[in-house]
This record gives sequence, C-alpha cells and structure tokens, in this order.
Amino acid sequence: MRRRTGTTPCLATVLVGDDPASVTYVRMKRNRCAQAGIDSRHVPLPSSITTDRLVEVIVSLSSDPKVHGILLQHPVGPHLDERAAFEAIAPQKDVDGVTGHSFAAMAFGRPGFVSCTPGGILRLLDEYQVDLTGRHAVVVGRSAILGRPAGMLLLARDATVTYCHSRTVGLSAITRGADVLVAAVGRPGFITGSDVKPGAVVVDAGYHPGGVGDVDVASVRDRAGLITPVPGGVGPMTIAVLLAQTVQAAARQLGVD
Ligand code: NAP
Repeated sequence: MRRRTGTTPCLATVLVGDDPASVTYVRMKRNRCAQAGIDSRHVPLPSSITTDRLVEVIVSLSSDPKVHGILLQHPVGPHLDERAAFEAIAPQKDVDGVTGHSFAAMAFGRPGFVSCTPGGILRLLDEYQVDLTGRHAVVVGRSAILGRPAGMLLLARDATVTYCHSRTVGLSAITRGADVLVAAVGRPGFITGSDVKPGAVVVDAGYHPGGVGDVDVASVRDRAGLITPVPGGVGPMTIAVLLAQTVQAAARQLGVD
C-alpha cells in the first residue's frame, strides 16, 4: 500500500481512563499495528470526560484524512453514552465494526466491516473448514460487540442459530444440542463438559485474568471435536481482523481497493 499510494494506513486508538485491562488491550493492538507496518495514533482521554466531548473527539478523527480507522476501546465507563460515541465513528472508518451501520451490514449479509471478535471467530471456523450450513450454532451471550453480531454472522452463513443469555431457561439442554457452541458469557469456566455435545466445535471467546476463558477446558477438552485455546485463540484473531479492516479502510479511502 505504501509503495502504491505513498500512504501508510493509520488506526486511531481512543482510550478513556486507565483501566488496566483496557490499557493492555490498546497496547497490544498498537504493537500489532507496528509489527504489520500500520501507523497508530493514540488518543488517551481522562475518565472525567463528558459524552459530548468524547463525541467531538471522534467526529474530528472521523473527518481527519490522515486517519483511516478508529478504535474506541470498550468499555468507556458507566457515566458515558458509549453508543453515542460509537455512532460518531464514520462508517467507512468503523474498522472495529461497532456502529449501527456495520451491524446492519452484518445482519443483512451485506459487505461492510464486521465486529472484530465475531469476524475473527468466523475466520477461525473457515480456516478449520467447519461446515456451518444447516448446523445448529448456539451463542451464549448477546452483547452488542460480541454475542449478537457473532450470531448474525453465523446466520449469514446458513447456520441455525440460537442465542442464550442470562434469562435463558434450561441453558445446558440447549447448549448440548449445539454443533457449534460459542461461549461469550464473561464468566470464567462457565461452560463445562456436561454442557457440550460430544464432537461439537467449541469457540471460547471469553478472556479473564490469568488466561482463563469462558469454557472449563479440563472438562470440555475430551468431549469437543475442536476447541479454541485461551490464550492464543479468539483474542489474537480479534486483533488480526482489526488490522486487516484498517488496511481495507485505507485502501477504500485512497481509491486502491
Ligand atoms: P458482556 O457484555 O458482559 O455480555 C455477557 C453476555 O453473557 C450477556 O449477554 C449476558 O446476558 C450473558 N450472560 C451473563 N451471565 C449469564 C448466565 N449465567 N447465563 C447465560 N448468559 C449469561 O460481555 P462481552 O463484552 O460480550 O464479553 C464476553 C466475554 O468475551 C468476556 O469474557 C470478555 O472478556 C470476552 N471478550 C473477548 C474479546 C477478545 O478479543 N478475545 C473481545 C470482547 C470480549 P444478558 O444480556 O441477559 O445480560
């Protein structure tokens, strides 16, 4: 891209406050940018910032031609309207796939940027040639950045999708029917061996301190046909999709895609 256009793709990373996990995630993303030859512009903001000011910062990055992609690290803090801040990201720079525009593209199976973690999950399933057509995919979790779009992408690939969440009754009976089980619960070791159908493909999207996922690996490993490791599975794929989409965004904005 640099040879063709003289421009290096640039990702703006916006971090509100100093939550240690968020600081680490942003640092990892910027390090991987540097390794891939992508510039990053870090925008640290105080946790005392208002929603209006945060939106202003993002609107200004959205109109800055030197910035090709924008990542607003989630979560931004309970006093802020995170959705308003996400929606201030110009759709063509939404390389983290968090805007309503990107969600609609995922939901309708249209071209657009995908949410990075679900996008990374689909990329992993493709790499391991997991056939999704007509298979029962169960997603445990329905958050806007992970569970919900993961289900949409699986549906777009002709899986029969069931969502489970905190109000689901009889969760284990549902997950035991899954050919593909995506754990996006945010609770360490939540999915155990008795929740898994023998031979199922288990995707562990969870991440907790100490490198523990949402799946209890000890009891699930021998039942699952395939299982993603934590760390080293969905996490690195999430960043890889972010980087790939940043390059795609730059190519589109520079008219060379
Ligand atoms: P979240 O916003 O807290 O959402 C958790 C989801 O799980 C919610 O939909 C919730 O249901 C559901 N849930 C909670 N307790 C449950 C229970 N007992 N039974 C059934 N469902 C339950 O979390 P998230 O942001 O989606 O993250 C989920 C996990 O993925 C976390 O471990 C996080 O660290 C990890 N993550 C990893 C990456 C990565 O790059 N690897 C990226 C993002 C997140 P309700 O909707 O009913 O509340």
